[in-house]
Amino acid sequence: MTICACGQTDRGLLRPHNEDALLISLDHGVFAVADGMGGHAAGEVASGLAIEAVREVLDRPRSPEDAMPDLIRRAIDEANRRIADRIQLRPEYRGMGTTLVLAVVEGERYWIAHVGDSRAYRIRGSEIRQLTSDHSFVNELVRLGMLSREQAARDPRRNVVTRALGSGPSVAADVVEEVAQPGDLILLCSDGLNSMLDDQTILATARTAEQDLDDGCRRLVAAANAAGGEDNVTVILVQPAGSRVDTTTPTQPVTMPGSESKEGQD
Ligand code: CA
Repeated sequence: MTICACGQTDRGLLRPHNEDALLISLDHGVFAVADGMGGHAAGEVASGLAIEAVREVLDRPRSPEDAMPDLIRRAIDEANRRIADRIQLRPEYRGMGTTLVLAVVEGERYWIAHVGDSRAYRIRGSEIRQLTSDHSFVNELVRLGMLSREQAARDPRRNVVTRALGSGPSVAADVVEEVAQPGDLILLCSDGLNSMLDDQTILATARTAEQDLDDGCRRLVAAANAAGGEDNVTVILVQPAGSRVDTTTPTQPVTMPGSESKEGQD
């Protein structure tokens, strides 16, 4: 089974640093986006620690006895512990934390896990479906029927997350299992994408580049920046089960200044 994936991260137009981090491992089908928070560059430390923990626990050969949701929770617990330990060691990092959304792909099955408001979407043909439910204050109000999704998108409290790695001794991640159909795309992103673009714009932008994931990532980042670029923006596009029409020629990996990009197959 061929997996194709690409990612891009960008500082955006207004923030002084990029506190997002990402992981793309085609070898073991592991993909992750972390969106760090906390002043004085602490956000970068938190998102970097989370990605490092995910890499160490998940980006390796796995035994058949490993139940994937357990393994994913172990990675997330490890990330949480490392951030908490760093805060203990360096009090100036108090208050730092990070979101995390990850996908682990095994053949046509894949698992999505998240903490915070970084998102996973599934794009299937002309449909986009959010696979994660934001752990955010405004999303709680949406669930309670007190705000519409449109109001939540504009609410000044939209950046307040209700769960993050590093905010306590333990953290509860949501883990779901999905089955991919040929041509499905998984999109992982930090809120710098979906706070600038609505779902239909994300869908239309990603679909223009269905056969060229690298181009799709670039277009999504460019569209977020064209819409204001108010936050760091990170996107990963993964095609888990091969393309619908098997004529894709993988392009060479391209890295832009200040960005990371990777494409390939295994
Ligand atoms: Ca963000």
